[in-house]
Amino acid sequence: MNNAKHVLSRVFGFSSYRPYQEEIIAAILDGRDLFAALPTGGGKSLCYQLPAMILPKVVVVVSPLIALMEDQVAGARQYGVPAAYLNSTLDEVGLRRTYRALFAGDIRLLYVSPERIAIPEFRERLSEIGVALFAVDEAHCISEWGHEFRPEYRTLTVLRHDFPDVPIAAFTATATQAVQDDVVNQLSLHQPLLVRGNFDRAEIFYRVRTKSRVNEQILQFVRDHGDEPGIVYRATRKATEETAGHLMEAGIAARPYHAGLPDTVRNVNQRAFVRDETRAIVATIAFGMGIDKSNVRWVVHGDLPRSVEAFYQETGRAGRDGEDADTSLFFGPGDVAKIRYHIDRMEVAKERERAERNLRDVLRFVDAGVCRRTLLLRHFGQEHDGNCGRCDVCTGETTTEDCSMAAQKLLSAVKRTGEWFGRHYIADVLVGEETEQVLTRGHHRLPTFGVGNDRQREWWVRLAADMEAAGLLARRDGERSGLTITERGAAVLFGRESFRTSITPGGPSGRTARTGRTTRAGVKDGSDAAASAHSAQPALWRDDQEALFQCLRALRKALARSAGVPPYVVFSDKTLKAIVRNRPENRAALLRINGIGEHKAERYGTDVLRLVREFLASGECPGDG
Ligand code: ADP
Ligand code: ZN
Repeated sequence: MNNAKHVLSRVFGFSSYRPYQEEIIAAILDGRDLFAALPTGGGKSLCYQLPAMILPKVVVVVSPLIALMEDQVAGARQYGVPAAYLNSTLDEVGLRRTYRALFAGDIRLLYVSPERIAIPEFRERLSEIGVALFAVDEAHCISEWGHEFRPEYRTLTVLRHDFPDVPIAAFTATATQAVQDDVVNQLSLHQPLLVRGNFDRAEIFYRVRTKSRVNEQILQFVRDHGDEPGIVYRATRKATEETAGHLMEAGIAARPYHAGLPDTVRNVNQRAFVRDETRAIVATIAFGMGIDKSNVRWVVHGDLPRSVEAFYQETGRAGRDGEDADTSLFFGPGDVAKIRYHIDRMEVAKERERAERNLRDVLRFVDAGVCRRTLLLRHFGQEHDGNCGRCDVCTGETTTEDCSMAAQKLLSAVKRTGEWFGRHYIADVLVGEETEQVLTRGHHRLPTFGVGNDRQREWWVRLAADMEAAGLLARRDGERSGLTITERGAAVLFGRESFRTSITPGGPSGRTARTGRTTRAGVKDGSDAAASAHSAQPALWRDDQEALFQCLRALRKALARSAGVPPYVVFSDKTLKAIVRNRPENRAALLRINGIGEHKAERYGTDVLRLVREFLASGECPGDG
């Protein structure tokens, strides 16, 4: 076993790497620059925490959110990694103590804010201490192309100049190529190892619903999830307050979070959420970056998100521990009007265009009746072959119908007009519209002219959009160019494959909004709490396992409180479930559980083993939790 692998199991308690962790860690130990785009929950922190245990000098992590550094440090320390942070929240005594420990070589992992890096004297201090690696977390913040640009990140461009020999590793969950190029460029990475993970978050269920009385819909969704924690996103401060109020009136522990609240209130609410002291946080987009809480089980959007990227990141905050998570997006036509209103008032042309493009993409996403996952991933240039089984379209929660015949008519019109025109023109041909353009080109003499006159022109335009979304049609080059038929389109045209979508002749959207979610086989509908945990469980999960899981959750919360850290840094939900399944009876068995290394076994092992033993003896929670 090599050294890194040894640290992985002994310190972190993990039996294997997540995808790409091994090569990233090898590159870091080799002193190479790197850029890694890994999805949220992909395990980025391990990529610099583990080398910190091996490298001879300090690993410096640049992290944008001061409020969260304490938790990040606490998380590392739980594994026994000597970590500290330096930011403006430390007083004189704290600062001095940390510097002393740094110079004494007692700290291996140091979290700092970009503002601190901007101070030249601080950089001098760093070079005296000796830096092994700069790990830039949330590296997309350096790019204006990202969705979370932060001007203070721009100062990081000095790192390469001031520390020419120290490797830089940039990490982000942002998936677009433009951001990658920009980050590599801004940080002057030298022949970096480029890693792009699989952005499919298979554990997340995606669903789009038509909005009507949205506060009621959100309440219903939250109720359907027992006592699981989650995030509600709303577009405005006012809506945030309203929804939070509505949930609280219904007896749900919820708190608002938006930029209009005083810092202290915001921090208190965020902390309560992270520490499992409130179930729901109702927030604007101001909330979320850097929230490492791994047991967020659901995310609801009460309004249309600004972009597909934003939607992906926001939903991505659920299920970081890899356990099932549920999401729902409520969307109504009023949302579009509101966003348009803002776009029309944007003064910088470049920004306006970007916002318009984002709106168009996000509308295509919510409107298309094809596999949501396929669409999301396509947005990031990743292929998925549909039928994901984990979205409302694929599970039939949203009804679709076979539109193969109509699709064939449309494809044939595309083909006969030379794969040169956009969907509006194709729709004209299909319904038999004798426009000037159609007449000049002689397309009224085509056999497909008018074959679709049993439908509205708009219906065909939408069908074309859905077909493009499903990858049957593509643009020849660039956004505004005409449609061509892809390989998959050809398969449908020649009847080798069928095409289903959710549009009906009745209206623009033929979705049936079913309430509640599909329960799985073998799930007994007991208390709310039982139902909630079941929803994220395979059918074999039994009542006694659920009871033990709830006991362990209570124990985790108590341990976290006395350690002064968030519960998820003590054990993840995944680790708790592994304990439930394996029922360890001694320390050796405990150490075999994924996520329990020596340090955690030392610290919490006795309590966990005692709880398991007493539970097995009595069949119930010792001391009632
Ligand atoms: P990211 O920062 O990429 O969003 P995190 O670093 O927060 O992801 O990791 C997400 C979760 O995955 C954490 O609970 C972490 O402990 C866990 N994890 C990381 N690496 C591994 C691994 N090799 N095996 C098992 N769990 C892991
Ligand atoms: Zn799907």
